[in-house]
Amino acid sequence: MKRVSLVTGASRGIGQATAIRLAEDGYDVVVNYLRQGDAARDVVDRIEQAGRRGLAIRADVASRDEVRRMVAEAAEVLGPVSVLVNNAGIYQRVTVDQMEPDRWERTLSVNLSGAFHTIQAVLPAMRQEGWGRIVNVSSQVGLRGTDHGADYAASKAGLLGLTKAVALEVAREGITVNAVAPGTIETDIIRNYSKEDREIRSRHIPVGRIGLPEEVASMVSYLASEEARYITGATLHVNGGYLIV
Ligand code: NAP
Repeated sequence: MKRVSLVTGASRGIGQATAIRLAEDGYDVVVNYLRQGDAARDVVDRIEQAGRRGLAIRADVASRDEVRRMVAEAAEVLGPVSVLVNNAGIYQRVTVDQMEPDRWERTLSVNLSGAFHTIQAVLPAMRQEGWGRIVNVSSQVGLRGTDHGADYAASKAGLLGLTKAVALEVAREGITVNAVAPGTIETDIIRNYSKEDREIRSRHIPVGRIGLPEEVASMVSYLASEEARYITGATLHVNGGYLIV
């Protein structure tokens, strides 16, 4: 059966690796981005090299209208979305006492409300088809907290609640809803970490290194597959064992 996937924030990092992996798995892929159109179009090229169709669409996931327009355009060009990966996210290192209310609002709007908007926009088509996969990219920070990013931790913990609630609502309709909680992954989001900071972090990760975007993408690929049909409302950890210790 023909399947179309939508990966938010797919111009870089984990979203980019996930978009390419889903294309390799046989999906056509909508590559959502906010600012980096050239990078998004490069991802579309790689999707086409994998033999699938790709479509780059600019939309701020924090905007309900932009998300609705994106999902409508995706349906028109590629077909209705049956795999949704809510990956777009922002993070800035700042303590709660230094945090401007605007920063708090923006983080919650992108990281949490963005997933709400996309889920609302894609569910009617998934229901109609009687099949769907939704994967929300949370974070170990949503489970464990962090000392620089209360907005981020709250948004990522919120995603876990959203995941479980929607999973219950659609459980009998062939639609699964799961979360992936990555540990520290080598992307732009951590580009400001110093060498020393990286070494300290790696020492605290049981497998001894920072993870790769492709290692998160392979978990998303599994959750999107037919084989994962009995997994819903779950949080899957991709963190090199970080939460064990
Ligand atoms: P990244 O390299 O900074 O990439 C972020 C992506 O999100 C970019 O494609 C960006 O688009 C897009 N984006 C940002 N704001 C957006 C908005 N309002 N609307 C649409 N797209 C938007 O991030 P990453 O490290 O790959 O992280 C991806 C996800 O994994 C995030 O949700 C993050 O919280 C989560 N995560 C990351 C780590 C990690 O260590 N890297 C760990 C745990 C969880 P443009 O390129 O157009 O700006």
